[in-house]
Amino acid sequence: MKQTLITALDHAEEFAAYWIGRQFPRPEVALGEESQTPYCNWCGQNNDGLTHCTCGCRSLKWSRVIRLGMYEPPLSTCIIRGKYSRWHDVLELMGKRLGQRIRGCVPPNAVIVPMPMPFIRWWFRGINHSAVLAKYVARSSGLGRRNLLLRKESPPQAGMSANQRTQLNMKNIRPRPFGKLHGKPVVLVDDVLTTGRTLEVAAKSLRSIGASTITVAVVAVTNLPETIKKVDYAPLTP
Ligand SMILES: [Zn+2]
Repeated sequence: MKQTLITALDHAEEFAAYWIGRQFPRPEVALGEESQTPYCNWCGQNNDGLTHCTCGCRSLKWSRVIRLGMYEPPLSTCIIRGKYSRWHDVLELMGKRLGQRIRGCVPPNAVIVPMPMPFIRWWFRGINHSAVLAKYVARSSGLGRRNLLLRKESPPQAGMSANQRTQLNMKNIRPRPFGKLHGKPVVLVDDVLTTGRTLEVAAKSLRSIGASTITVAVVAVTNLPETIKKVDYAPLTP
């Protein structure tokens, strides 16, 4: 029965590709089977569990990273299509898979918080990918979800130093008025963890409104270049 359904869906895809001229693969096909490789629970980089991870010299503002995989195909392709082609279904599937990984790894009173997107960017893109991910992470993990952060539009960060980017983000990512966490743990959801600067600022904002612990849940983690791995990050001001 299941095989018949899959065959029928394959035919429907071919039919759509032929007549519409555009292919819409099913999210399960685009994303492929789930696979899990060992990774460092603090920075999310691949780690065999035996080698000492280089993140020990960095000052990270969260207690744990939960991820689906490294930022490489098919995950990277699915993230780009989800964000820029408004492919809601693939974001939904990635959110559900991430929620399944989170279930049982955080306390039951933990709150899912999406990384905020500036309104103007949301308006032009037509989709708030972090909010879509967080929605399905919450559904799949059975945890509550709250939009507790606000983000203002900022100029492009390319060419800025890490500290300039941090200062900019600290001005632009703020807690919403009246949002209090009263000591609850938080799961901060985003699509990609790169240097982690923006996530660190968001984590600091959440701590300022009473988050007890911060777990970062991301779809993918980029491979840090050696220069960044060795940087001894200046701590953020408390
Ligand atoms: Zn690490």
